[in-house]
Amino acid sequence: MKEIKLKKGKEESLGRFHPWVFSGAIATVPSEGIEEGEVVKVVGHDGRELGAGDWQIGSIAVRMLRFASPETEINEEFFRHRLEDAYNLRQSLGLLRDDNDSYRLVHGEGDFLPGLVIDIYGETAVMQAHSVAMHYRREMLADLLTQITGLGVKNVYYKSETTLPFKARLDPQNDYLKGAMTGDVALENGLRFHVDWLKGQKTGFFLDQRDNRSLLEKYSRGRSVLNMFCYTGGFSVYAMRGGAKRVVSVDSSAKAIALTDNNMELNFPRDPRHEAVAEDAFRYLDTMRDGEFDLIVLDPPAFAKHRSAIPNALRGYQKLNAAAMRKIAPGGVLFTFSCSQAISARDLRLAVFSAAASTGRKVRILHQMTQPADHPVSIYHPEGEYLKGLILAID
Ligand code: SAH
Repeated sequence: MKEIKLKKGKEESLGRFHPWVFSGAIATVPSEGIEEGEVVKVVGHDGRELGAGDWQIGSIAVRMLRFASPETEINEEFFRHRLEDAYNLRQSLGLLRDDNDSYRLVHGEGDFLPGLVIDIYGETAVMQAHSVAMHYRREMLADLLTQITGLGVKNVYYKSETTLPFKARLDPQNDYLKGAMTGDVALENGLRFHVDWLKGQKTGFFLDQRDNRSLLEKYSRGRSVLNMFCYTGGFSVYAMRGGAKRVVSVDSSAKAIALTDNNMELNFPRDPRHEAVAEDAFRYLDTMRDGEFDLIVLDPPAFAKHRSAIPNALRGYQKLNAAAMRKIAPGGVLFTFSCSQAISARDLRLAVFSAAASTGRKVRILHQMTQPADHPVSIYHPEGEYLKGLILAID
Protein backbone atom coordinates (compact mmCIF):
# COMPACT_ATOMS: atom_id res chain seq x y z
CA MET A 1 0.00 0.00 0.00
CA LYS A 2 1.38 3.41 -0.89
CA GLU A 3 2.05 5.77 1.94
CA ILE A 4 1.37 9.45 2.38
CA LYS A 5 3.01 11.41 5.16
CA LEU A 6 1.35 14.27 6.98
CA LYS A 7 2.95 17.55 7.97
CA LYS A 8 3.97 17.97 11.58
CA GLY A 9 0.97 19.04 13.67
CA LYS A 10 -1.54 17.89 11.04
CA GLU A 11 -2.07 14.49 12.67
CA GLU A 12 -4.34 15.86 15.35
CA SER A 13 -7.69 15.60 13.57
CA LEU A 14 -7.02 11.96 12.64
CA GLY A 15 -6.19 11.36 16.29
CA ARG A 16 -9.78 12.47 16.93
CA PHE A 17 -11.03 10.12 14.19
CA HIS A 18 -12.10 12.84 11.80
CA PRO A 19 -12.44 10.95 8.51
CA TRP A 20 -10.97 13.50 6.08
CA VAL A 21 -7.38 14.38 5.25
CA PHE A 22 -7.19 17.72 3.46
CA SER A 23 -4.62 18.12 0.70
CA GLY A 24 -2.95 20.97 2.62
CA ALA A 25 -2.10 18.60 5.49
CA ILE A 26 0.07 16.35 3.33
CA ALA A 27 3.88 16.61 3.45
CA THR A 28 4.90 13.89 0.98
CA VAL A 29 3.34 11.46 -1.46
CA PRO A 30 5.21 8.59 -3.18
CA SER A 31 7.34 9.74 -6.12
CA GLU A 32 5.65 7.26 -8.46
CA GLY A 33 2.32 9.00 -7.77
CA ILE A 34 -1.02 7.59 -6.65
CA GLU A 35 -3.96 6.60 -8.81
CA GLU A 36 -7.24 8.26 -7.90
CA GLY A 37 -9.34 5.74 -6.00
CA GLU A 38 -6.37 3.81 -4.57
CA VAL A 39 -6.34 2.92 -0.87
CA VAL A 40 -3.39 4.65 0.82
CA LYS A 41 -1.77 4.31 4.20
CA VAL A 42 -1.59 7.59 6.12
CA VAL A 43 1.36 8.13 8.45
CA GLY A 44 2.29 10.98 10.78
CA HIS A 45 5.42 13.09 10.30
CA ASP A 46 7.26 10.61 12.53
CA GLY A 47 6.25 7.65 10.37
CA ARG A 48 3.63 6.31 12.82
CA GLU A 49 0.67 4.72 11.04
CA LEU A 50 -2.58 6.63 11.52
CA GLY A 51 -4.88 4.60 9.29
CA ALA A 52 -5.87 4.04 5.68
CA GLY A 53 -8.35 5.54 3.28
CA ASP A 54 -9.38 6.36 -0.28
CA TRP A 55 -7.17 8.70 -2.27
CA GLN A 56 -8.74 11.40 -4.39
CA ILE A 57 -7.61 14.53 -6.18
CA GLY A 58 -9.20 17.56 -4.57
CA SER A 59 -9.39 19.40 -1.32
CA ILE A 60 -10.38 16.24 0.58
CA ALA A 61 -7.42 14.06 -0.44
CA VAL A 62 -8.14 10.99 1.71
CA ARG A 63 -11.43 9.65 3.03
CA MET A 64 -10.48 7.41 5.92
CA LEU A 65 -11.82 3.86 6.05
CA ARG A 66 -10.02 2.77 9.18
CA PHE A 67 -7.78 4.21 11.86
CA ALA A 68 -4.54 2.60 13.11
CA SER A 69 -5.20 -1.21 13.39
CA PRO A 70 -2.86 -2.17 10.52
CA GLU A 71 -4.06 -5.77 10.68
CA THR A 72 -7.44 -4.78 9.18
CA GLU A 73 -7.28 -5.30 5.43
CA ILE A 74 -9.53 -3.24 3.22
CA ASN A 75 -11.07 -5.93 1.07
CA GLU A 76 -14.47 -7.40 0.27
CA GLU A 77 -14.84 -8.76 3.81
CA PHE A 78 -14.19 -5.29 5.20
CA PHE A 79 -17.08 -3.86 3.17
CA ARG A 80 -19.31 -6.82 3.94
CA HIS A 81 -18.87 -6.10 7.64
CA ARG A 82 -19.52 -2.39 7.26
CA LEU A 83 -22.70 -3.08 5.25
CA GLU A 84 -23.87 -5.70 7.74
CA ASP A 85 -23.30 -3.25 10.60
CA ALA A 86 -25.34 -0.66 8.72
CA TYR A 87 -28.12 -3.15 8.09
CA ASN A 88 -28.17 -4.36 11.71
CA LEU A 89 -28.53 -0.78 12.91
CA ARG A 90 -31.55 -0.16 10.63
CA GLN A 91 -33.08 -3.38 11.82
CA SER A 92 -32.62 -2.41 15.45
CA LEU A 93 -34.24 0.94 14.66
CA GLY A 94 -37.38 -0.95 13.66
CA LEU A 95 -37.37 0.28 10.07
CA LEU A 96 -37.93 -3.11 8.44
CA ARG A 97 -41.58 -3.91 8.96
CA ASP A 98 -44.61 -5.07 7.01
CA ASP A 99 -45.70 -1.45 6.73
CA ASN A 100 -42.24 0.08 6.13
CA ASP A 101 -39.69 -1.09 3.56
CA SER A 102 -37.83 2.15 2.83
CA TYR A 103 -34.86 3.56 4.69
CA ARG A 104 -31.32 4.83 4.23
CA LEU A 105 -28.95 1.87 4.59
CA VAL A 106 -25.69 3.78 4.24
CA HIS A 107 -25.19 7.41 5.16
CA GLY A 108 -21.55 8.00 4.21
CA GLU A 109 -19.34 8.98 7.12
CA GLY A 110 -22.21 8.28 9.53
CA ASP A 111 -21.82 4.59 8.64
CA PHE A 112 -18.02 4.78 8.41
CA LEU A 113 -18.27 4.45 4.64
CA PRO A 114 -17.28 7.91 3.41
CA GLY A 115 -18.28 8.65 -0.17
CA LEU A 116 -21.18 6.18 -0.26
CA VAL A 117 -24.95 6.62 0.05
CA ILE A 118 -27.43 3.76 -0.31
CA ASP A 119 -31.20 4.11 -0.01
CA ILE A 120 -33.49 1.07 0.06
CA TYR A 121 -36.94 1.11 -1.52
CA GLY A 122 -38.42 -2.34 -1.05
CA GLU A 123 -36.36 -4.75 -3.10
CA THR A 124 -34.43 -2.00 -4.88
CA ALA A 125 -31.28 -0.33 -3.58
CA VAL A 126 -30.30 3.03 -5.05
CA MET A 127 -26.57 3.60 -4.69
CA GLN A 128 -24.69 6.87 -5.05
CA ALA A 129 -20.91 7.18 -5.07
CA HIS A 130 -19.43 10.50 -4.07
CA SER A 131 -15.81 9.33 -4.36
CA VAL A 132 -13.78 7.73 -7.13
CA ALA A 133 -12.87 4.76 -4.93
CA MET A 134 -16.52 3.94 -4.20
CA HIS A 135 -17.21 4.20 -7.94
CA TYR A 136 -14.55 1.56 -8.64
CA ARG A 137 -16.10 -0.67 -5.96
CA ARG A 138 -19.64 -0.38 -7.30
CA GLU A 139 -19.94 -3.93 -8.68
CA MET A 140 -18.55 -5.48 -5.50
CA LEU A 141 -20.88 -3.37 -3.36
CA ALA A 142 -23.86 -4.35 -5.54
CA ASP A 143 -22.95 -8.03 -5.11
CA LEU A 144 -22.71 -7.61 -1.35
CA LEU A 145 -26.09 -5.85 -1.21
CA THR A 146 -27.79 -8.84 -2.80
CA GLN A 147 -25.97 -11.24 -0.47
CA ILE A 148 -26.69 -9.79 2.95
CA THR A 149 -29.24 -12.03 4.60
CA GLY A 150 -32.49 -10.36 5.45
CA LEU A 151 -31.85 -7.24 3.41
CA GLY A 152 -33.94 -8.60 0.54
CA VAL A 153 -32.34 -6.51 -2.21
CA LYS A 154 -32.84 -7.85 -5.75
CA ASN A 155 -32.19 -4.74 -7.83
CA VAL A 156 -29.33 -2.28 -7.49
CA TYR A 157 -29.62 0.98 -9.38
CA TYR A 158 -26.42 2.99 -9.61
CA LYS A 159 -26.97 6.75 -9.80
CA SER A 160 -23.73 8.69 -9.65
CA GLU A 161 -23.79 10.85 -12.79
CA THR A 162 -24.11 14.01 -10.73
CA THR A 163 -22.37 13.02 -7.49
CA LEU A 164 -18.90 12.02 -8.72
CA PRO A 165 -16.19 14.63 -9.26
CA PHE A 166 -16.54 15.85 -12.82
CA LYS A 167 -12.77 16.21 -13.23
CA ALA A 168 -12.19 12.51 -12.62
CA ARG A 169 -13.75 11.87 -16.07
CA LEU A 170 -15.29 8.60 -14.99
CA ASP A 171 -18.34 9.10 -17.17
CA PRO A 172 -20.53 6.94 -14.93
CA GLN A 173 -23.77 5.77 -16.50
CA ASN A 174 -26.86 5.72 -14.32
CA ASP A 175 -28.01 2.14 -14.68
CA TYR A 176 -28.98 -1.10 -12.97
CA LEU A 177 -25.94 -3.07 -11.77
CA LYS A 178 -28.27 -5.88 -10.68
CA GLY A 179 -31.81 -6.77 -11.69
CA ALA A 180 -34.13 -4.29 -13.33
CA MET A 181 -37.18 -2.15 -12.59
CA THR A 182 -39.64 -4.39 -10.74
CA GLY A 183 -41.89 -1.71 -9.27
CA ASP A 184 -41.48 1.77 -7.91
CA VAL A 185 -43.75 1.90 -4.88
CA ALA A 186 -42.07 2.38 -1.51
CA LEU A 187 -43.84 1.84 1.78
CA GLU A 188 -43.26 4.31 4.59
CA ASN A 189 -45.19 3.98 7.84
CA GLY A 190 -48.06 2.36 5.96
CA LEU A 191 -48.22 5.07 3.29
CA ARG A 192 -47.28 4.39 -0.31
CA PHE A 193 -45.07 6.54 -2.51
CA HIS A 194 -43.97 6.25 -6.12
CA VAL A 195 -40.21 6.74 -6.10
CA ASP A 196 -38.65 7.90 -9.35
CA TRP A 197 -34.99 6.99 -8.88
CA LEU A 198 -34.44 7.31 -12.64
CA LYS A 199 -35.34 10.99 -12.91
CA GLY A 200 -36.04 12.24 -9.39
CA GLN A 201 -33.79 14.35 -7.18
CA LYS A 202 -31.09 12.56 -5.18
CA THR A 203 -32.16 8.90 -4.93
CA GLY A 204 -35.78 9.78 -5.75
CA PHE A 205 -37.31 10.40 -2.34
CA PHE A 206 -36.40 12.34 0.80
CA LEU A 207 -36.32 9.63 3.43
CA ASP A 208 -34.73 12.11 5.82
CA GLN A 209 -38.06 13.78 6.62
CA ARG A 210 -39.76 10.56 7.75
CA ASP A 211 -39.86 11.36 11.47
CA ASN A 212 -40.83 14.97 10.81
CA ARG A 213 -43.66 13.83 8.54
CA SER A 214 -44.90 11.58 11.37
CA LEU A 215 -44.84 14.52 13.74
CA LEU A 216 -46.79 16.62 11.26
CA GLU A 217 -49.42 13.91 11.06
CA LYS A 218 -50.04 14.35 14.79
CA TYR A 219 -50.59 18.09 14.40
CA SER A 220 -52.87 17.85 11.36
CA ARG A 221 -56.31 17.00 12.76
CA GLY A 222 -58.84 19.62 11.70
CA ARG A 223 -56.18 21.97 10.34
CA SER A 224 -55.68 23.69 7.00
CA VAL A 225 -52.23 22.63 5.86
CA LEU A 226 -49.93 24.36 3.39
CA ASN A 227 -47.03 22.14 2.28
CA MET A 228 -44.57 24.48 0.63
CA PHE A 229 -41.77 22.94 -1.53
CA CYS A 230 -43.76 19.71 -1.54
CA TYR A 231 -41.67 17.74 -4.13
CA THR A 232 -43.22 14.23 -3.89
CA GLY A 233 -45.92 15.38 -1.49
CA GLY A 234 -44.61 13.44 1.52
CA PHE A 235 -45.81 15.86 4.19
CA SER A 236 -49.15 16.27 2.40
CA VAL A 237 -49.96 12.56 2.43
CA TYR A 238 -49.19 12.34 6.16
CA ALA A 239 -51.33 15.44 6.83
CA MET A 240 -54.25 13.79 5.03
CA ARG A 241 -53.96 10.67 7.16
CA GLY A 242 -53.72 12.88 10.23
CA GLY A 243 -57.19 14.23 9.49
CA ALA A 244 -56.43 17.63 7.98
CA LYS A 245 -59.45 19.63 6.85
CA ARG A 246 -57.65 20.87 3.74
CA VAL A 247 -54.16 20.31 2.30
CA VAL A 248 -52.51 22.47 -0.36
CA SER A 249 -49.19 21.31 -1.85
CA VAL A 250 -47.06 23.91 -3.60
CA ASP A 251 -43.91 23.50 -5.69
CA SER A 252 -42.52 25.57 -8.54
CA SER A 253 -41.80 22.43 -10.55
CA ALA A 254 -44.68 21.00 -12.59
CA LYS A 255 -43.00 17.58 -12.35
CA ALA A 256 -43.10 17.74 -8.55
CA ILE A 257 -46.79 18.61 -8.69
CA ALA A 258 -47.43 15.58 -10.92
CA LEU A 259 -45.52 13.37 -8.44
CA THR A 260 -47.55 14.77 -5.55
CA ASP A 261 -50.83 14.16 -7.39
CA ASN A 262 -49.77 10.57 -8.16
CA ASN A 263 -48.83 9.88 -4.56
CA MET A 264 -52.07 11.35 -3.32
CA GLU A 265 -53.99 9.11 -5.77
CA LEU A 266 -52.13 6.11 -4.38
CA ASN A 267 -53.21 6.84 -0.81
CA PHE A 268 -56.30 9.05 -0.89
CA PRO A 269 -57.84 8.67 -4.35
CA ARG A 270 -60.20 11.47 -5.41
CA ASP A 271 -60.14 13.01 -1.95
CA PRO A 272 -61.39 16.59 -2.39
CA ARG A 273 -59.44 17.85 0.63
CA HIS A 274 -56.20 17.98 -1.40
CA GLU A 275 -55.06 20.36 -4.10
CA ALA A 276 -51.59 20.73 -5.70
CA VAL A 277 -50.42 24.01 -7.20
CA ALA A 278 -47.40 24.72 -9.42
CA GLU A 279 -46.29 28.14 -8.19
CA ASP A 280 -43.27 29.96 -6.83
CA ALA A 281 -43.15 29.83 -3.02
CA PHE A 282 -42.77 33.55 -2.46
CA ARG A 283 -45.51 34.38 -4.96
CA TYR A 284 -47.88 31.95 -3.29
CA LEU A 285 -47.13 33.24 0.22
CA ASP A 286 -47.60 36.82 -1.00
CA THR A 287 -50.97 36.25 -2.62
CA MET A 288 -52.62 33.78 -0.22
CA ARG A 289 -55.23 35.09 2.18
CA ASP A 290 -54.31 36.11 5.71
CA GLY A 291 -55.10 33.27 8.12
CA GLU A 292 -55.93 30.85 5.29
CA PHE A 293 -53.66 28.17 6.81
CA ASP A 294 -52.96 27.19 10.40
CA LEU A 295 -50.27 24.61 9.65
CA ILE A 296 -47.47 25.50 7.26
CA VAL A 297 -44.46 23.43 6.18
CA LEU A 298 -41.40 25.17 4.74
CA ASP A 299 -38.88 22.64 3.44
CA PRO A 300 -36.92 24.52 0.78
CA PRO A 301 -33.93 23.21 -1.17
CA ALA A 302 -30.50 23.94 0.34
CA PHE A 303 -30.05 27.71 0.17
CA ALA A 304 -26.31 27.46 0.97
CA LYS A 305 -24.35 24.82 -0.89
CA HIS A 306 -21.02 26.39 0.23
CA ARG A 307 -19.83 28.42 3.16
CA SER A 308 -19.50 31.50 0.98
CA ALA A 309 -23.26 31.44 0.39
CA ILE A 310 -24.19 31.52 4.09
CA PRO A 311 -25.06 35.24 4.44
CA ASN A 312 -27.38 35.17 1.41
CA ALA A 313 -28.91 31.90 2.54
CA LEU A 314 -29.67 33.33 5.98
CA ARG A 315 -31.45 36.28 4.38
CA GLY A 316 -33.39 33.77 2.27
CA TYR A 317 -34.51 31.74 5.30
CA GLN A 318 -35.40 34.92 7.14
CA LYS A 319 -37.52 36.27 4.27
CA LEU A 320 -39.28 32.96 3.69
CA ASN A 321 -40.12 32.42 7.36
CA ALA A 322 -41.28 36.01 7.80
CA ALA A 323 -43.63 35.63 4.82
CA ALA A 324 -45.21 32.51 6.37
CA MET A 325 -45.36 33.97 9.89
CA ARG A 326 -47.11 37.09 8.66
CA LYS A 327 -49.96 35.08 7.13
CA ILE A 328 -50.38 32.02 9.37
CA ALA A 329 -53.61 31.96 11.40
CA PRO A 330 -53.39 32.68 15.15
CA GLY A 331 -52.76 29.41 17.00
CA GLY A 332 -50.90 28.18 13.92
CA VAL A 333 -48.00 25.77 13.77
CA LEU A 334 -45.02 26.28 11.47
CA PHE A 335 -42.68 23.44 10.47
CA THR A 336 -39.55 25.11 9.12
CA PHE A 337 -36.41 23.37 7.84
CA SER A 338 -32.97 23.90 6.41
CA CYS A 339 -31.19 21.04 4.65
CA SER A 340 -28.03 23.10 4.02
CA GLN A 341 -25.03 21.41 5.58
CA ALA A 342 -23.29 24.80 5.90
CA ILE A 343 -26.16 26.28 7.97
CA SER A 344 -25.97 25.30 11.64
CA ALA A 345 -28.96 24.79 13.90
CA ARG A 346 -27.98 28.06 15.58
CA ASP A 347 -27.89 29.88 12.22
CA LEU A 348 -31.37 28.66 11.34
CA ARG A 349 -32.65 29.64 14.75
CA LEU A 350 -31.20 33.15 14.35
CA ALA A 351 -32.81 33.53 10.92
CA VAL A 352 -36.15 32.40 12.35
CA PHE A 353 -35.69 34.73 15.32
CA SER A 354 -35.23 37.75 13.09
CA ALA A 355 -38.18 36.66 10.95
CA ALA A 356 -40.33 36.45 14.10
CA ALA A 357 -39.14 39.82 15.39
CA SER A 358 -39.91 41.49 12.04
CA THR A 359 -43.52 40.31 12.23
CA GLY A 360 -44.05 40.95 15.95
CA ARG A 361 -45.92 37.64 16.35
CA LYS A 362 -45.58 35.62 19.55
CA VAL A 363 -43.46 32.66 18.52
CA ARG A 364 -42.49 29.66 20.63
CA ILE A 365 -40.30 26.67 19.81
CA LEU A 366 -42.17 23.39 20.34
CA HIS A 367 -39.66 20.94 18.84
CA GLN A 368 -36.14 21.07 17.49
CA MET A 369 -35.81 18.57 14.70
CA THR A 370 -33.00 16.94 12.79
CA GLN A 371 -32.43 14.00 10.45
CA PRO A 372 -33.68 10.54 11.53
CA ALA A 373 -31.60 7.73 12.97
CA ASP A 374 -31.03 6.02 9.61
CA HIS A 375 -29.02 9.15 8.69
CA PRO A 376 -26.65 8.86 11.67
CA VAL A 377 -24.00 11.47 12.45
CA SER A 378 -20.58 10.20 13.49
CA ILE A 379 -19.60 12.09 16.62
CA TYR A 380 -16.20 12.57 14.97
CA HIS A 381 -17.74 14.12 11.85
CA PRO A 382 -20.19 16.83 12.87
CA GLU A 383 -20.40 17.95 9.22
CA GLY A 384 -22.69 14.95 8.68
CA GLU A 385 -25.53 16.72 10.47
CA TYR A 386 -27.24 18.62 7.68
CA LEU A 387 -30.99 18.69 8.36
CA LYS A 388 -32.28 21.15 10.94
CA GLY A 389 -35.83 22.08 11.74
CA LEU A 390 -37.94 24.03 14.18
CA ILE A 391 -41.58 23.44 14.95
CA LEU A 392 -43.07 26.71 16.12
CA ALA A 393 -46.31 27.73 17.74
CA ILE A 394 -47.44 31.10 16.45
CA ASP A 395 -50.07 32.97 18.45
N1 SAH B 1 -40.38 18.70 1.24
C1 SAH B 1 -39.94 17.75 0.25
C2 SAH B 1 -38.53 18.02 -0.27
C3 SAH B 1 -38.33 19.40 -0.83
S1 SAH B 1 -37.07 19.47 -2.03
C4 SAH B 1 -40.07 16.34 0.81
O1 SAH B 1 -40.38 16.15 1.99
O2 SAH B 1 -39.83 15.39 0.05
C5 SAH B 1 -37.21 21.11 -2.56
C6 SAH B 1 -38.32 21.38 -3.56
O3 SAH B 1 -38.43 22.80 -3.67
C7 SAH B 1 -38.10 20.87 -4.98
O4 SAH B 1 -39.16 20.01 -5.32
C8 SAH B 1 -38.11 22.13 -5.85
O5 SAH B 1 -38.81 21.96 -7.09
C9 SAH B 1 -38.85 23.12 -4.99
N2 SAH B 1 -38.54 24.54 -5.22
C10 SAH B 1 -37.34 25.11 -5.43
N3 SAH B 1 -37.46 26.45 -5.53
C11 SAH B 1 -38.77 26.74 -5.35
C12 SAH B 1 -39.53 27.96 -5.31
N4 SAH B 1 -38.93 29.15 -5.47
N5 SAH B 1 -40.85 27.88 -5.08
C13 SAH B 1 -41.46 26.68 -4.90
N6 SAH B 1 -40.80 25.52 -4.93
C14 SAH B 1 -39.47 25.53 -5.15
